[in-house]
Amino acid sequence: MTFVEGLRCRECARTYPAEALHVCEYCFGPLEVAYDYDGIAAATSRERIAAGPDTIWRYADLLPARAQGAVDLGAGFTPLVRADRLAAQLGLGELWLKNDTLNPTGSFKDRVVSVALTKARELGFKVAACASTGNLANSVAAHAARAGMESYVFIPRDLEQAKVVTTAVFGGNLIAVEGTYDDVNRLCAELAGEHPSWAFVNVNVRTYYAEGSKTLAFEVAEQLGWQTPDHVVVPIASGSQLTKIHKGFRELHRVGLLSEEPHLRVSGAQAQGCSPVATAFATGADHVRPVKPDTIAKSLAIGDPADGWYALDVVRSSGGAIGSVTDDEIVEGIRLLARTEGIFTETAGGVTIATLAQLASSGVVRRDERVVAYVTGIGLKTIDAVAPHVGPTATIAPTLEAFESAVEVDD
Ligand SMILES: *Cc1c(COP(=O)(O)O)cnc(C)c1O
Ligand SMILES: [Zn+2]
Repeated sequence: MTFVEGLRCRECARTYPAEALHVCEYCFGPLEVAYDYDGIAAATSRERIAAGPDTIWRYADLLPARAQGAVDLGAGFTPLVRADRLAAQLGLGELWLKNDTLNPTGSFKDRVVSVALTKARELGFKVAACASTGNLANSVAAHAARAGMESYVFIPRDLEQAKVVTTAVFGGNLIAVEGTYDDVNRLCAELAGEHPSWAFVNVNVRTYYAEGSKTLAFEVAEQLGWQTPDHVVVPIASGSQLTKIHKGFRELHRVGLLSEEPHLRVSGAQAQGCSPVATAFATGADHVRPVKPDTIAKSLAIGDPADGWYALDVVRSSGGAIGSVTDDEIVEGIRLLARTEGIFTETAGGVTIATLAQLASSGVVRRDERVVAYVTGIGLKTIDAVAPHVGPTATIAPTLEAFESAVEVDD
Protein backbone atom coordinates (compact mmCIF):
# COMPACT_ATOMS: atom_id res chain seq x y z
CA MET A 1 0.00 0.00 0.00
CA THR A 2 0.98 3.65 -0.20
CA PHE A 3 -0.06 6.64 1.89
CA VAL A 4 -1.05 8.74 -1.11
CA GLU A 5 -4.36 10.58 -0.59
CA GLY A 6 -4.46 12.10 -4.07
CA LEU A 7 -3.04 15.03 -5.98
CA ARG A 8 -3.38 18.65 -4.92
CA CYS A 9 -2.91 21.87 -6.90
CA ARG A 10 0.00 23.88 -5.55
CA GLU A 11 -1.82 27.13 -6.39
CA CYS A 12 -5.52 26.68 -5.56
CA ALA A 13 -5.38 23.47 -3.45
CA ARG A 14 -8.11 21.69 -5.47
CA THR A 15 -7.72 17.94 -5.17
CA TYR A 16 -7.60 15.21 -7.80
CA PRO A 17 -7.37 11.40 -7.78
CA ALA A 18 -3.87 9.89 -7.98
CA GLU A 19 -3.87 9.37 -11.76
CA ALA A 20 -1.59 10.50 -14.60
CA LEU A 21 -2.41 14.19 -14.14
CA HIS A 22 0.02 17.06 -13.76
CA VAL A 23 -1.82 20.38 -14.11
CA CYS A 24 -4.90 21.76 -12.41
CA GLU A 25 -7.92 22.00 -14.72
CA TYR A 26 -9.06 25.22 -13.07
CA CYS A 27 -5.94 27.36 -12.65
CA PHE A 28 -3.28 25.41 -14.62
CA GLY A 29 -1.13 25.25 -11.48
CA PRO A 30 1.15 22.22 -11.05
CA LEU A 31 -0.20 19.27 -9.08
CA GLU A 32 1.63 17.76 -6.15
CA VAL A 33 1.20 14.41 -4.39
CA ALA A 34 -0.74 14.68 -1.11
CA TYR A 35 -0.07 12.13 1.64
CA ASP A 36 -1.74 10.90 4.80
CA TYR A 37 1.07 12.10 7.08
CA ASP A 38 -0.60 10.82 10.26
CA GLY A 39 -0.79 7.38 8.67
CA ILE A 40 2.88 7.56 7.71
CA ALA A 41 3.84 8.75 11.19
CA ALA A 42 2.05 5.76 12.72
CA ALA A 43 3.60 3.25 10.32
CA THR A 44 7.17 4.41 9.85
CA SER A 45 10.18 4.53 12.15
CA ARG A 46 13.93 4.93 11.94
CA GLU A 47 14.27 1.18 12.61
CA ARG A 48 11.85 0.23 9.83
CA ILE A 49 13.77 2.40 7.38
CA ALA A 50 17.15 1.02 8.51
CA ALA A 51 15.84 -2.51 7.89
CA GLY A 52 14.89 -1.62 4.31
CA PRO A 53 16.94 -2.03 1.13
CA ASP A 54 20.05 0.12 0.47
CA THR A 55 18.17 2.07 -2.20
CA ILE A 56 15.61 4.88 -2.39
CA TRP A 57 12.94 2.25 -1.70
CA ARG A 58 13.83 2.18 2.00
CA TYR A 59 11.73 5.39 2.12
CA ALA A 60 8.74 3.90 0.29
CA ASP A 61 6.35 5.10 3.03
CA LEU A 62 7.08 8.65 1.87
CA LEU A 63 6.96 7.87 -1.87
CA PRO A 64 3.93 7.69 -4.20
CA ALA A 65 4.51 4.14 -5.48
CA ARG A 66 4.86 0.68 -3.95
CA ALA A 67 8.31 -0.75 -3.24
CA GLN A 68 7.15 -4.25 -4.09
CA GLY A 69 7.67 -4.75 -7.81
CA ALA A 70 9.45 -1.40 -8.19
CA VAL A 71 11.35 -0.66 -11.40
CA ASP A 72 14.66 -0.78 -9.59
CA LEU A 73 18.28 -0.70 -10.73
CA GLY A 74 19.46 0.15 -7.21
CA ALA A 75 19.19 3.95 -7.32
CA GLY A 76 19.98 5.89 -4.19
CA PHE A 77 21.64 5.40 -0.82
CA THR A 78 24.77 6.93 -2.30
CA PRO A 79 27.66 7.95 -0.02
CA LEU A 80 27.58 11.15 2.01
CA VAL A 81 31.26 11.98 2.41
CA ARG A 82 32.96 14.48 4.70
CA ALA A 83 35.03 16.81 2.51
CA ASP A 84 37.71 18.32 4.78
CA ARG A 85 40.25 19.00 2.05
CA LEU A 86 37.75 20.84 -0.12
CA ALA A 87 36.41 22.67 2.94
CA ALA A 88 39.93 23.87 3.79
CA GLN A 89 40.37 25.20 0.24
CA LEU A 90 37.08 27.10 0.45
CA GLY A 91 37.51 28.38 3.99
CA LEU A 92 34.57 26.33 5.23
CA GLY A 93 34.13 24.22 8.36
CA GLU A 94 31.91 21.12 8.24
CA LEU A 95 31.34 20.29 4.58
CA TRP A 96 29.71 17.13 3.23
CA LEU A 97 29.21 15.96 -0.34
CA LYS A 98 26.27 13.83 -1.45
CA ASN A 99 28.00 11.72 -4.08
CA ASP A 100 25.21 10.98 -6.54
CA THR A 101 27.70 10.20 -9.30
CA LEU A 102 27.46 6.64 -7.96
CA ASN A 103 23.92 5.94 -9.13
CA PRO A 104 23.28 3.12 -11.66
CA THR A 105 23.45 5.39 -14.74
CA GLY A 106 25.69 7.96 -13.08
CA SER A 107 23.28 10.69 -12.05
CA PHE A 108 20.57 11.58 -9.55
CA LYS A 109 17.99 11.10 -12.35
CA ASP A 110 17.87 7.38 -11.45
CA ARG A 111 15.98 8.35 -8.28
CA VAL A 112 13.21 10.19 -10.07
CA VAL A 113 12.96 7.75 -12.96
CA SER A 114 12.71 4.70 -10.68
CA VAL A 115 9.75 6.35 -8.93
CA ALA A 116 8.15 7.58 -12.17
CA LEU A 117 8.30 4.26 -14.00
CA THR A 118 7.18 2.30 -10.96
CA LYS A 119 4.12 4.53 -10.72
CA ALA A 120 3.61 4.43 -14.50
CA ARG A 121 3.53 0.65 -14.41
CA GLU A 122 1.06 0.71 -11.48
CA LEU A 123 -1.14 2.99 -13.59
CA GLY A 124 -1.00 0.49 -16.46
CA PHE A 125 1.37 2.27 -18.86
CA LYS A 126 3.47 0.07 -21.14
CA VAL A 127 5.51 2.81 -22.84
CA ALA A 128 7.95 5.23 -21.17
CA ALA A 129 8.91 8.54 -22.78
CA CYS A 130 10.78 11.73 -21.91
CA ALA A 131 12.38 14.95 -23.10
CA SER A 132 15.93 15.08 -21.82
CA THR A 133 19.13 17.10 -21.54
CA GLY A 134 20.97 13.77 -21.34
CA ASN A 135 20.97 12.16 -17.91
CA LEU A 136 17.22 11.63 -17.93
CA ALA A 137 17.59 9.95 -21.33
CA ASN A 138 20.16 7.48 -19.94
CA SER A 139 18.04 6.73 -16.95
CA VAL A 140 14.70 6.31 -18.73
CA ALA A 141 16.24 4.06 -21.38
CA ALA A 142 17.93 1.91 -18.71
CA HIS A 143 14.93 1.63 -16.40
CA ALA A 144 12.58 0.93 -19.33
CA ALA A 145 14.90 -1.89 -20.42
CA ARG A 146 14.90 -3.26 -16.88
CA ALA A 147 11.09 -3.11 -16.76
CA GLY A 148 10.60 -4.57 -20.24
CA MET A 149 8.81 -1.38 -21.31
CA GLU A 150 9.07 0.23 -24.69
CA SER A 151 10.69 3.70 -24.62
CA TYR A 152 10.76 6.91 -26.64
CA VAL A 153 13.49 9.31 -25.59
CA PHE A 154 13.79 12.78 -27.14
CA ILE A 155 17.05 14.77 -26.91
CA PRO A 156 18.51 17.93 -28.47
CA ARG A 157 20.75 16.89 -31.37
CA ASP A 158 23.86 18.67 -29.98
CA LEU A 159 24.08 16.54 -26.82
CA GLU A 160 27.45 15.17 -25.62
CA GLN A 161 28.28 11.97 -27.55
CA ALA A 162 28.75 9.98 -24.36
CA LYS A 163 25.16 10.71 -23.33
CA VAL A 164 23.85 9.67 -26.75
CA VAL A 165 25.78 6.37 -26.69
CA THR A 166 24.91 5.58 -23.07
CA THR A 167 21.24 6.00 -23.92
CA ALA A 168 21.16 4.25 -27.28
CA VAL A 169 22.87 1.14 -25.91
CA PHE A 170 19.73 0.24 -23.95
CA GLY A 171 17.90 -0.33 -27.20
CA GLY A 172 14.79 1.87 -26.97
CA ASN A 173 13.79 4.54 -29.49
CA LEU A 174 16.13 7.56 -29.28
CA ILE A 175 15.05 10.62 -31.25
CA ALA A 176 17.54 13.49 -31.78
CA VAL A 177 15.67 16.75 -32.36
CA GLU A 178 17.07 19.78 -34.16
CA GLY A 179 16.51 22.37 -31.46
CA THR A 180 17.18 23.29 -27.83
CA TYR A 181 15.90 21.36 -24.83
CA ASP A 182 13.01 23.80 -24.59
CA ASP A 183 12.05 22.96 -28.20
CA VAL A 184 12.25 19.25 -27.38
CA ASN A 185 10.10 19.79 -24.31
CA ARG A 186 7.45 21.65 -26.30
CA LEU A 187 7.38 18.84 -28.85
CA CYS A 188 6.92 16.33 -26.05
CA ALA A 189 4.01 18.30 -24.59
CA GLU A 190 2.33 17.95 -28.01
CA LEU A 191 3.25 14.27 -28.30
CA ALA A 192 1.85 13.61 -24.84
CA GLY A 193 -1.49 14.91 -26.12
CA GLU A 194 -1.31 12.65 -29.20
CA HIS A 195 -0.20 9.53 -27.29
CA PRO A 196 -2.06 9.41 -23.98
CA SER A 197 -0.96 5.79 -23.53
CA TRP A 198 2.69 6.87 -23.10
CA ALA A 199 4.03 7.72 -19.67
CA PHE A 200 6.06 10.89 -20.24
CA VAL A 201 8.17 11.07 -17.11
CA ASN A 202 8.44 14.85 -17.28
CA VAL A 203 4.91 15.53 -18.52
CA ASN A 204 1.92 13.37 -17.48
CA VAL A 205 3.72 11.48 -14.67
CA ARG A 206 5.93 14.42 -13.64
CA THR A 207 4.03 14.80 -10.37
CA TYR A 208 5.27 11.35 -9.28
CA TYR A 209 8.68 11.71 -10.89
CA ALA A 210 9.41 14.86 -8.87
CA GLU A 211 8.77 13.04 -5.57
CA GLY A 212 11.86 10.87 -6.16
CA SER A 213 14.10 13.87 -5.43
CA LYS A 214 12.90 13.93 -1.81
CA THR A 215 15.13 10.90 -1.22
CA LEU A 216 18.11 13.28 -1.52
CA ALA A 217 16.90 14.86 1.72
CA PHE A 218 15.87 11.60 3.42
CA GLU A 219 19.27 10.00 2.87
CA VAL A 220 21.26 13.01 4.03
CA ALA A 221 19.20 13.22 7.23
CA GLU A 222 19.61 9.52 7.93
CA GLN A 223 23.32 9.55 7.08
CA LEU A 224 23.84 12.48 9.47
CA GLY A 225 22.24 10.43 12.26
CA TRP A 226 18.74 11.86 11.73
CA GLN A 227 19.81 15.48 11.75
CA THR A 228 19.53 18.21 9.17
CA PRO A 229 22.31 20.29 7.68
CA ASP A 230 22.28 24.07 8.21
CA HIS A 231 22.77 24.84 4.54
CA VAL A 232 22.44 22.85 1.31
CA VAL A 233 23.72 23.84 -2.13
CA VAL A 234 21.75 22.37 -5.03
CA PRO A 235 22.05 22.76 -8.83
CA ILE A 236 19.01 24.12 -10.66
CA ALA A 237 17.76 23.01 -14.09
CA SER A 238 13.95 22.83 -13.89
CA GLY A 239 14.20 23.64 -10.16
CA SER A 240 12.32 20.48 -9.18
CA GLN A 241 15.15 18.84 -7.28
CA LEU A 242 15.79 21.91 -5.14
CA THR A 243 12.16 22.32 -4.10
CA LYS A 244 11.83 18.60 -3.33
CA ILE A 245 14.96 18.48 -1.17
CA HIS A 246 13.41 21.25 0.92
CA LYS A 247 10.07 19.41 1.03
CA GLY A 248 11.81 16.16 2.00
CA PHE A 249 13.38 17.58 5.18
CA ARG A 250 10.05 19.13 6.21
CA GLU A 251 8.23 15.84 5.67
CA LEU A 252 10.69 13.95 7.87
CA HIS A 253 9.86 16.33 10.68
CA ARG A 254 6.14 16.12 9.95
CA VAL A 255 6.13 12.32 10.36
CA GLY A 256 8.27 12.37 13.49
CA LEU A 257 11.57 11.11 12.07
CA LEU A 258 13.43 14.29 13.04
CA SER A 259 13.19 15.44 16.61
CA GLU A 260 14.03 19.05 15.84
CA GLU A 261 12.32 21.23 13.28
CA PRO A 262 14.73 21.76 10.39
CA HIS A 263 16.17 25.27 10.04
CA LEU A 264 17.63 24.73 6.66
CA ARG A 265 19.01 27.35 4.31
CA VAL A 266 18.75 26.33 0.67
CA SER A 267 21.03 27.83 -1.98
CA GLY A 268 20.92 27.22 -5.73
CA ALA A 269 23.57 26.92 -8.43
CA GLN A 270 23.31 27.76 -12.13
CA ALA A 271 25.62 28.23 -15.10
CA GLN A 272 25.89 31.85 -16.25
CA GLY A 273 25.01 30.67 -19.77
CA CYS A 274 21.62 29.51 -18.48
CA SER A 275 20.78 31.38 -15.30
CA PRO A 276 17.14 32.48 -15.41
CA VAL A 277 16.54 31.66 -11.73
CA ALA A 278 19.82 33.21 -10.54
CA THR A 279 18.97 36.36 -12.50
CA ALA A 280 15.52 36.58 -10.94
CA PHE A 281 17.13 36.15 -7.51
CA ALA A 282 19.75 38.84 -8.18
CA THR A 283 17.26 41.37 -9.51
CA GLY A 284 14.55 40.68 -6.94
CA ALA A 285 12.09 39.83 -9.72
CA ASP A 286 8.84 38.06 -8.87
CA HIS A 287 8.91 35.86 -11.94
CA VAL A 288 11.51 33.89 -13.89
CA ARG A 289 12.14 35.21 -17.39
CA PRO A 290 13.08 32.45 -19.92
CA VAL A 291 16.50 32.54 -21.61
CA LYS A 292 18.18 30.76 -24.53
CA PRO A 293 20.87 28.48 -23.01
CA ASP A 294 24.52 28.66 -24.03
CA THR A 295 26.70 26.71 -21.57
CA ILE A 296 28.84 23.58 -21.29
CA ALA A 297 26.55 22.50 -18.42
CA LYS A 298 24.07 20.88 -20.79
CA SER A 299 22.35 18.83 -18.10
CA LEU A 300 21.29 22.12 -16.48
CA ALA A 301 20.45 23.91 -19.75
CA ILE A 302 16.73 24.52 -19.27
CA GLY A 303 15.94 28.06 -20.35
CA ASP A 304 12.33 28.02 -19.19
CA PRO A 305 12.37 26.10 -15.90
CA ALA A 306 9.01 24.61 -14.91
CA ASP A 307 9.68 24.91 -11.17
CA GLY A 308 11.86 28.01 -11.37
CA TRP A 309 9.49 30.20 -9.43
CA TYR A 310 9.03 27.62 -6.66
CA ALA A 311 12.80 27.18 -6.38
CA LEU A 312 13.20 30.95 -6.09
CA ASP A 313 10.57 31.03 -3.37
CA VAL A 314 12.27 28.26 -1.34
CA VAL A 315 15.67 29.96 -1.60
CA ARG A 316 14.33 33.37 -0.62
CA SER A 317 12.20 32.20 2.26
CA SER A 318 14.96 29.98 3.67
CA GLY A 319 17.58 32.74 3.60
CA GLY A 320 19.79 31.18 0.92
CA ALA A 321 21.08 32.63 -2.35
CA ILE A 322 21.45 31.58 -5.99
CA GLY A 323 24.84 31.99 -7.65
CA SER A 324 25.88 31.55 -11.25
CA VAL A 325 29.27 30.67 -12.68
CA THR A 326 31.09 30.88 -16.02
CA ASP A 327 32.12 27.91 -18.16
CA ASP A 328 35.75 28.40 -17.04
CA GLU A 329 34.68 28.36 -13.41
CA ILE A 330 32.68 25.17 -14.06
CA VAL A 331 35.79 23.43 -15.39
CA GLU A 332 37.79 24.71 -12.41
CA GLY A 333 35.05 23.44 -10.08
CA ILE A 334 35.26 19.95 -11.63
CA ARG A 335 39.04 19.94 -11.27
CA LEU A 336 39.03 21.30 -7.73
CA LEU A 337 36.63 18.58 -6.57
CA ALA A 338 38.65 15.88 -8.32
CA ARG A 339 41.99 17.13 -6.87
CA THR A 340 40.77 17.56 -3.32
CA GLU A 341 38.28 14.73 -2.85
CA GLY A 342 38.83 12.13 -5.58
CA ILE A 343 35.37 12.57 -7.09
CA PHE A 344 35.01 13.14 -10.82
CA THR A 345 31.79 14.97 -11.54
CA GLU A 346 30.16 16.20 -14.72
CA THR A 347 29.59 19.85 -15.60
CA ALA A 348 26.52 20.12 -13.35
CA GLY A 349 28.70 19.14 -10.38
CA GLY A 350 31.24 21.72 -11.56
CA VAL A 351 28.47 24.32 -11.40
CA THR A 352 27.62 23.28 -7.83
CA ILE A 353 31.22 23.29 -6.55
CA ALA A 354 32.08 26.58 -8.29
CA THR A 355 28.92 28.18 -6.90
CA LEU A 356 29.71 26.80 -3.44
CA ALA A 357 33.14 28.47 -3.72
CA GLN A 358 31.49 31.73 -4.77
CA LEU A 359 28.94 31.66 -1.94
CA ALA A 360 31.66 30.75 0.57
CA SER A 361 33.84 33.66 -0.45
CA SER A 362 30.94 36.12 -0.33
CA GLY A 363 30.00 34.87 3.14
CA VAL A 364 26.56 33.49 2.20
CA VAL A 365 27.70 29.95 3.05
CA ARG A 366 29.38 30.29 6.44
CA ARG A 367 32.23 28.56 8.20
CA ASP A 368 30.06 27.83 11.26
CA GLU A 369 27.44 25.99 9.22
CA ARG A 370 27.11 22.28 8.52
CA VAL A 371 26.95 22.35 4.73
CA VAL A 372 25.89 19.68 2.24
CA ALA A 373 26.60 20.13 -1.49
CA TYR A 374 24.79 17.84 -3.91
CA VAL A 375 27.13 16.38 -6.58
CA THR A 376 24.54 15.07 -9.00
CA GLY A 377 26.29 13.46 -11.98
CA ILE A 378 29.42 11.59 -13.07
CA GLY A 379 32.29 13.13 -15.06
CA LEU A 380 32.69 10.31 -17.56
CA LYS A 381 29.74 11.56 -19.62
CA THR A 382 31.18 15.07 -20.08
CA ILE A 383 34.84 14.24 -20.78
CA ASP A 384 34.92 16.95 -23.49
CA ALA A 385 34.61 19.69 -20.87
CA VAL A 386 37.92 18.82 -19.20
CA ALA A 387 39.79 17.06 -22.02
CA PRO A 388 41.52 20.28 -23.22
CA HIS A 389 42.76 21.03 -19.69
CA VAL A 390 44.20 17.77 -18.38
CA GLY A 391 46.47 15.05 -19.75
CA PRO A 392 49.59 13.02 -19.02
CA THR A 393 52.30 14.67 -16.90
CA ALA A 394 54.82 13.48 -19.48
CA THR A 395 55.00 11.16 -22.48
CA ILE A 396 58.24 9.21 -22.51
CA ALA A 397 60.17 6.31 -24.01
CA PRO A 398 60.02 3.13 -21.85
CA THR A 399 63.41 3.75 -20.21
CA LEU A 400 64.62 4.79 -16.77
CA GLU A 401 66.59 7.71 -18.20
CA ALA A 402 63.61 9.05 -20.08
CA PHE A 403 61.53 9.04 -16.90
CA GLU A 404 64.29 10.62 -14.78
CA SER A 405 64.85 13.41 -17.25
CA ALA A 406 61.14 14.11 -17.90
CA VAL A 407 59.81 14.06 -14.33
CA GLU A 408 61.13 15.90 -11.31
CA VAL A 409 60.60 13.56 -8.35
CA ASP A 410 61.07 14.80 -4.82
CA ASP A 411 61.73 11.91 -2.40
C1 LIG B 1 18.58 17.11 -14.27
C2 LIG B 1 19.81 17.38 -13.47
C3 LIG B 1 19.85 18.34 -12.43
C4 LIG B 1 18.72 19.30 -12.10
O1 LIG B 1 17.47 18.79 -11.93
P1 LIG B 1 16.13 19.67 -11.85
O2 LIG B 1 15.30 18.89 -10.91
O3 LIG B 1 15.56 19.70 -13.24
O4 LIG B 1 16.45 21.05 -11.36
C5 LIG B 1 21.00 18.44 -11.69
N1 LIG B 1 22.10 17.69 -11.95
C6 LIG B 1 22.12 16.77 -12.93
C7 LIG B 1 23.35 16.00 -13.16
C8 LIG B 1 20.97 16.59 -13.72
O5 LIG B 1 21.01 15.67 -14.70
ZN1 LIG C 1 -5.43 24.95 -9.25
